[in-house]
Amino acid sequence: MRVLTLSDKIIDSLHSPALTSMARGVELVLSCGDLPADYLEFIVSLLNVPLFFVMGNHGGDGGEKLYPEGCENLDARVVEHKGWLIAGLEGSMRYNSRPQFQYTETEMRAKVAGLTPALIVNHARYGRSLDILVTHAPPFKIHDGEDLPHHGFKSYLWLIDQYKPRYHFHGHTHVYDNRAPTTTPHGKTTIINTYGYKIIDLEK
Ligand SMILES: [Zn+2]
Repeated sequence: MRVLTLSDKIIDSLHSPALTSMARGVELVLSCGDLPADYLEFIVSLLNVPLFFVMGNHGGDGGEKLYPEGCENLDARVVEHKGWLIAGLEGSMRYNSRPQFQYTETEMRAKVAGLTPALIVNHARYGRSLDILVTHAPPFKIHDGEDLPHHGFKSYLWLIDQYKPRYHFHGHTHVYDNRAPTTTPHGKTTIINTYGYKIIDLEK
């Protein structure tokens, strides 16, 4: 399945009629957060394929529209799409007192635990728990940063080790140096920082 993954940065060419040729063959869009609602709405209306998103840590303070219409919020959910088992977790490490989209490690561990029943049902039904994990923040020590807002979550590593998704897509870590790694294998999981965008043919 060919997917378009997005996060953190508006790509002008995607936000234009050129999108249809750039994203030819894309069957699913996954947004890893920190993108304006109207950008995602433009993409979903032009491509006319499902778009699953998680919110990033930004948003909620400017009165702007938070949630894109015609798209599906994947936060704290496990869904099945065309035979792919997908789960999502929004937000980043808590670093200030803004109410939304920030979580302590303990709070995130509770969100991860909330996915468990559905993942266990998946395992019984499909023989595997999860194919694609979609988050905004990275896992601990993988593509993450030294400053508190950019710390990765240990609970994501636990989730990956426990349920062995084929892919983990995240954003949050801006890539300014082309030599910075954006794809890291971890056990059976390929962890991908999708900063900006990527078009990937997923393989089971
Ligand atoms: Zn972020």
